[in-house]
Parts: sequence; structure tokens; C-alpha cells
Amino acid sequence: MATQSRAAKEDSRKYWDEKFETMPTAELQKFQLRKLKETVAWAYERIPFYHRKLDEAGIKPGGIKSLDDLAKLPFTVKNDLRDNYPFGLCAVPLREVVRVHASSGTTGKPITGPYTAEDLDQWTECMARNLWAAGVRPDDIAQNAYGHGLFTGGLGFHQGLSRIGCAVVPTSSGLTEREITLMKDFGATALFSTPSYALTIAERAAELKVDIRELPLRIGVFGAEPWSTAMRQEIEERMGIKAQEAYGLTEQGGPGVGFDCIAQDGIHLNEDHFLAEIVDPVTLEPVPLGEKGELIFTALQRRAMPLLRYRTKDITRLRREKCPCGRTFIKMDKIFGRSDDMLIISGVNVFPSQIESLLLEIPEVEPQYRLVVRKKGYLDQLIVQVEGKKDIYDAGPEKRLEVAAKVMGHIKGHMGIGVEVEIVEAKFINRSEGKALRVVDERPKQLR
Ligand code: ADP
Ligand code: ZN
Repeated sequence: MATQSRAAKEDSRKYWDEKFETMPTAELQKFQLRKLKETVAWAYERIPFYHRKLDEAGIKPGGIKSLDDLAKLPFTVKNDLRDNYPFGLCAVPLREVVRVHASSGTTGKPITGPYTAEDLDQWTECMARNLWAAGVRPDDIAQNAYGHGLFTGGLGFHQGLSRIGCAVVPTSSGLTEREITLMKDFGATALFSTPSYALTIAERAAELKVDIRELPLRIGVFGAEPWSTAMRQEIEERMGIKAQEAYGLTEQGGPGVGFDCIAQDGIHLNEDHFLAEIVDPVTLEPVPLGEKGELIFTALQRRAMPLLRYRTKDITRLRREKCPCGRTFIKMDKIFGRSDDMLIISGVNVFPSQIESLLLEIPEVEPQYRLVVRKKGYLDQLIVQVEGKKDIYDAGPEKRLEVAAKVMGHIKGHMGIGVEVEIVEAKFINRSEGKALRVVDERPKQLR
């Protein structure tokens, strides 16, 4: 009985960490400035790479007087992490490191992310905020289908869920039928995975004649890859749940950097831990608040690997506005995509998630697609391969051509680009178990 009433009281709490999550901006910025000064000094004194970079840039830690001075600091890029692989950017002796993760290497050689005990604790707190904002509560049976291992997703969610006090079921990813059986048998109320894996689970469940909408599942927290708003709605419908979002990157400790609230209108950034900027990806000059560009993060409290002005390659916009949830943390738009995945087709910048949104508006196709880029003469040609619904595909080549023309017209109408569309058969596209591979670049390396 006593336990029950405790859970009930905690459940009604609106925020995980009210003090920071609702801190007035001026106060938050004062806190950020103090932490920024400390971090720059920490990095300068302990990491030879930053000592050299700051000396070259002619700025000493004492030169940081306001948040605007951030612009004086040098950037850090993924290659800096690779060049210093594995522990060259570690600010503490390995004796003080209690965990090392590595990126999944979507875009090349892995990079390492070391944590001190304090880093792990803060990461856990950030994740708990994220999950709490999504509506996860101690009573939840939490099925964690992020890959467990070097990837930060599995353990990051595990820690946050454990801190909240959920019954965590660490299924990891890959054994999709077992996910569905356990979801049913255990009565999971919350699911955690990449959005593309959630879709794989939903699809497999339908094949097994399990209607997830009839199960107790009520929330999902999805992240680690770009997904469109249309994809969110698709997952919400197929599973009968609220699909919330998590954002993060190994270089800044993993998931828990940002999260959306139930307003589902932008991703709040844990601003007391991460100082965000948007810069023009070409000139690297900061852009005015509200303009689109590359997202940059400076870690404010990390001990083992406090990266300064890390270039995420993620393209988004920041907004400082009142949110109905009451949180004061700045919001960013859903990530449009990584600049690495941006295609330039007939002079137009194209992100896979834009095509994804449009495909989801065509009832004759499944939300299973990939984009193939080829050279046709001097021009880049984009081929959209998307699975037709079974009856459409089976109706024969004429029907498929008709649907392909419809998809082409829809993309042309909304994005102004001419693409080729192939309606492919069911299961032509590999099902994702983690991060989906959306772009296949078949252009000769030297012509990309
Ligand atoms: P890798 O770089 O090898 O994929 P990470 O797991 O560190 O390894 O990936 C971090 C990246 O994943 C982010 O920089 C971003 O591009 C992407 N990402 C993470 N969460 C989201 C999200 N909610 N929406 C869009 N992209 C995301
Ligand atoms: Zn909010």
C-alpha cells in the first residue's frame, strides 16, 4: 500500500527536474556562462588538442566573458575524434573512466565516448527528464528495443528507465518476433527503439495477426535517426500509441540531449548541459535565431570528453518560445537530416525525410523506401524505390507504372524535382533493426 501511494504521488509530478526544466532564460543563461567558463578551462588544461586549438585561435579560458564569446572558440569535427582515436580527447586518466561507448559508425570509423561516474549520472538524469516528459512513469513496463552494446541508445535508455523505476525489459533489437511475443506476454506499456525499427515491429506484428493497438502499449520514445512527422503519425496509428522523440549523439554522451514534450512541437534541449548554436554550414558564421543551419553543441558539464563547438552535421532551426508544457528549454525543429545525407538534385537540396513525408501521403505504397543516387551523363539522378502495397504490386506492371507516375508527380509538385520512381515488391527494402539505411550512393566516388 505504502509503495502504491508513493508511486501515485510521483506520477503526478509534471517535471523530472522542475528547477532546471522551468528555469527563467536569464537565469539559465547565467548558469550556462558559468559552466562554459569552467568547461573551457577544463578542456584547455587537460586536453592537449584543445590547448593547441585555443592557443592558435588566440583565446584563453579567461577570455570567455559572455555567451557571445562562444563564437571565438574553434569548432570540433568528427575527424578530430577519429584523429585522436581512441582516448586522445579524454580529459581524465582512464582510471577515472567508468564506461566507454562508441558510435555506430553510420558514416565511417567509430569514435569513442568515455564517461566518468559523474558523466554517467548526468546522462541518466537527462534521459530521465526525456522519458518523464514523454509520459513514462514508474508503473510502466518498459520494453527497450534499442541495440544494447557500444551504441549509446540501449544503455542510455536503460539507465533513464531504471532511474524512473520502470520494470525494464532489455530486449535489444533484432529478434523481432520475440519482441512481439514479449510485448504481448509481459503487457509492455512503453516501447523504446529507432522509429524505423518500430515500423518493422508494427509490420511483423500485423503479419503475425497481432494487433498492437489492442495491447496495453501506450507510449513509444523513438530516436537516433531522422523521421518525418508523417512517419510519427504512421507509427502512432499502427501501434495505437503516442510516439515521442529522443535526440542525441555519441559525441555529446548519447540520447538525452533533446526530447519533445507532449506538445510534440519541437525538441527541447537540455540547455543546462548542452549549449546549442546554429551556424551556416558553409561560412560557419552563427545565423540569427530561428534560421536553419548546422547544429553545434558545446558540452557544459561533461568531464571525460567535453567537446567544444562540436559540429553535428545535423540541420535544424532553434526557437526560443513559450511552450504549453511550461518548459523553458529552447526548442529545435525536428532534424531535417544530416548534411552528409543531403542530396543535391537539379540544384535543389533534398533530405530523405522530405521524400518520406511525401511517400506517406500516397495510399498505394508502404512507408518502406530507399533513395538511390546515380550519374546519368553529368547529372545526378535520384531513384526512389518504394514498396507498393501488396494488391497494387500484384495488379501488374501497368498498375505499378501508374502508381510510380503518381508518386513522381507528387514529388515534383511539392519539391520541384524530377525523380525516377520504382514500385518494388514487398520486402525488397531491407527491414531496419536499428538505424535505417535510406540513401544508396552509386555515383563513382570521385564524382560525388
Ligand atoms: P552515428 O553517427 O554513428 O550514427 P550516433 O548514434 O552517435 O552515431 O548518431 C547520432 C546522430 O543520429 C545524430 O547526430 C543525428 O544525425 C541522428 N539522430 C539522433 N537522434 C535523432 C532524432 N531524434 N532525429 C533525427 N536524427 C537523430
Ligand atoms: Zn514543451
